[in-house]
Amino acid sequence: MQIIHISAECFPIAKVGGLADVVGALPKYQETSGISSKVIMPFYENKFTIQHLEELESTFIGEINLGEKLYNYKVLKLPKQVLGFEVFLIKIENLTDRPNVYGYPDDVERFTAFQKIVCDFLVNFKEKPNVVHCHDHHTGFIPFFMSYSMAHKKLQHIPSIITIHNAQYQGDFSYDKMYYLPDFNIENAGLIDWYGRINPLATGIKCAWKVTTVSSNYLGELQKVANGLEGLLRSEKAKSIGILNGVDSQVWNPSTDSMLKFNFNKKTINKGRQGNKEWLCNKFNLDPKLPLIAFIGRFVYEKGSDLLSEVVSQVLEKENKEVNLLLLGSGNPETENQLRELQNRIQGKFNTFIGYDEELSHIIYGGADFLLMPSRVEPCGLNQMYAMRYGMLPIVSNTGGLKDTVIDIDQGEEGFGIVLNPVNVHEICFAIQRAIDVYANKAFFKAKRKQLMNIEHSWDKSAQEYIKMYQSLVNIAQ
Ligand code: ADP
Repeated sequence: MQIIHISAECFPIAKVGGLADVVGALPKYQETSGISSKVIMPFYENKFTIQHLEELESTFIGEINLGEKLYNYKVLKLPKQVLGFEVFLIKIENLTDRPNVYGYPDDVERFTAFQKIVCDFLVNFKEKPNVVHCHDHHTGFIPFFMSYSMAHKKLQHIPSIITIHNAQYQGDFSYDKMYYLPDFNIENAGLIDWYGRINPLATGIKCAWKVTTVSSNYLGELQKVANGLEGLLRSEKAKSIGILNGVDSQVWNPSTDSMLKFNFNKKTINKGRQGNKEWLCNKFNLDPKLPLIAFIGRFVYEKGSDLLSEVVSQVLEKENKEVNLLLLGSGNPETENQLRELQNRIQGKFNTFIGYDEELSHIIYGGADFLLMPSRVEPCGLNQMYAMRYGMLPIVSNTGGLKDTVIDIDQGEEGFGIVLNPVNVHEICFAIQRAIDVYANKAFFKAKRKQLMNIEHSWDKSAQEYIKMYQSLVNIAQ
């Protein structure tokens, strides 16, 4: 069986968030299960691609139009030995050959052209896949193009799947750009529409043979609230399924992780974590004797990051609690500014790193005592799973995948985390106090850390669930 994943991100080539981690891990696990798994993504001119330029082999060239505007493109193949699966990078001149994944004013043009090229490429690709697996709205048109675009008819018998990693972002745009799309029978125009706009995510949900979400709980939540798509997700319930993401245990393994300052395993956890914590405290001017609570993530409303500055001020300025708070992230400029101001005011127990730093995130997972995730929306959440694998206790809200993966410490022996509900400053501060109390009971705290390292969150189980789904689609397609 051959699967082709299509995505805007794939670790370590280009990462903004969890989507990259999933698309960088799942194909590897599928390859080891005997399934040929490849990835198609845009070529970005970033550190990874520049470092691997010599390994990239040009396999296909062409030109694509958006209306009357023509763009030249190349499909560059990264051989399997680099990441454990083949990757095709689509380099569209003047559209994708830029450093960042998202955030350009012409993202609609970039990703629409990308999706048209993916389908043109697949039409010409000798080894036709058995299943095309799309990820998020940047690939949402593909199931539609495969079924209804005149130029891509050869693909109409291939099953397609769309996985929703985040339904907040839908990529919708107005009809004045409809001419960007390839020709299709106008009778099918309803499939691209959602409330008067062209909506790639809605299109993918309508046209894919299967819809998956990255946790079961998130699927249930989306059928109630999905940034306007809830009705659609309810009507497509029969073809939808939630499959929890896993942890790539080759990348996220505290005994081999080269980004950690001190490696450790279940036996050496206390020494290893202490070493990493001291390194963090030294670097960020924190007190190693006190518990260290960290946040890692994008500063967006969904992650509850707008509440962080008030929480820090409440905990450290008003209540002067005996705890360190360390924040790593970037995003909303107001949040960034508030945190910078706090950084000037509070020293010794608080610090923040504004930006994206993969290595620092690993050291935090390997050294901070608690991970704070006060998310309002969390489709799956990988951070809490990485934290757990590294023996770090999660403090989480009761939503999405967090609900599927974290058991409150007061729920009996099985419990290991601190669950807060609802998401507000008061509840987050209360959860922080609970963490301080747990930390004070050293023997109990250390036992919980070890318990966490025994929890299995590897991709093995979820990768098998995907394979079962692919097989069922292949049977239908035959
Ligand atoms: P989302 O995809 O919604 O951002 P996930 O929990 O699924 O959230 O995945 C987030 C991933 O991005 C994790 O691997 C996390 O460690 C990483 N990450 C997020 N922000 C940063 C940052 N500022 N620096 C380093 N890694 C980050």
